[in-house]
Amino acid sequence: MTALSVRNLNVWYGDKHTLNDVSVEIPLRRITCIIGPSGCGKSTLLKALNRLLDLNDQVKVSGQVRLDDINIYDPGVDVTEVRTRVGLLAQKPFPLPMSIFDNVAYGPRIHGRHNGKIHALVQEQLQAVGLWDEVADRLKAPATSLSVGQQQRLCLARTLSVEPEIVLCDESTASLDPISARGIEGLLCALKDKYTVVLVTHDIDQARRLADHVIFMWLGEVVESAPAGQFFGQPKEELTQAYLAREIG
Ligand code: ADP
Ligand code: MG
Repeated sequence: MTALSVRNLNVWYGDKHTLNDVSVEIPLRRITCIIGPSGCGKSTLLKALNRLLDLNDQVKVSGQVRLDDINIYDPGVDVTEVRTRVGLLAQKPFPLPMSIFDNVAYGPRIHGRHNGKIHALVQEQLQAVGLWDEVADRLKAPATSLSVGQQQRLCLARTLSVEPEIVLCDESTASLDPISARGIEGLLCALKDKYTVVLVTHDIDQARRLADHVIFMWLGEVVESAPAGQFFGQPKEELTQAYLAREIG
């Protein structure tokens, strides 16, 4: 089953043709890792998947990203709805300048989805990211009083609080210490029962640990997209073989 289907996607920053005719499928309720060297277009592809690229008015996009039976680039599509269904966890934790509790309550309040059970919802999301026991006695404290690793788990709880179907992660463990990074990796693995996860990483070892499916990019194109066992075991393309052997990149 497919969660997202990218078809003939091209992206330009001004005149610079950055994604070149990308067609790829993101499997449902699996972890897909997008790998490749710095500058190959990983973040651009990720941000194309929930129209975050639109925030930059230099950007031009052609092609389709299909979510169920809609193309998210069709005119008339509700972009806010797309970004609710396809949430993002950034590289660095960016908690909102408010309390721990309000960070998680913020989205559900805006969407009016909590039916008066906001405390239960916040508790549930904080438990899901393993933060509840650490913060239950200081929910009113500012989110910035947490450690960086805790802040990233809080941001994940915030992303999950509006019940997305797909969670996009852009190098979301890169700014964390190794223990916090492993903590986030464990959470992402637990998420795939319920969510589709797409993780950009330049770390091949992280992709080996986490990926069910791998998309390998090079100079704005998809070189190879395959189930992880096949990708790491019998890569088809010479470029993939060289990258995995760390001869290039
Ligand atoms: P990656 O995440 O793989 O490092 P990016 O998607 O960030 O790659 O970038 C792909 C290419 O697009 C790079 O050449 C980068 O310089 C360029 N690029 C990325 N963001 C912008 C931007 N906002 N404006 C202009 N060029 C950009
Ligand atoms: Mg990037």
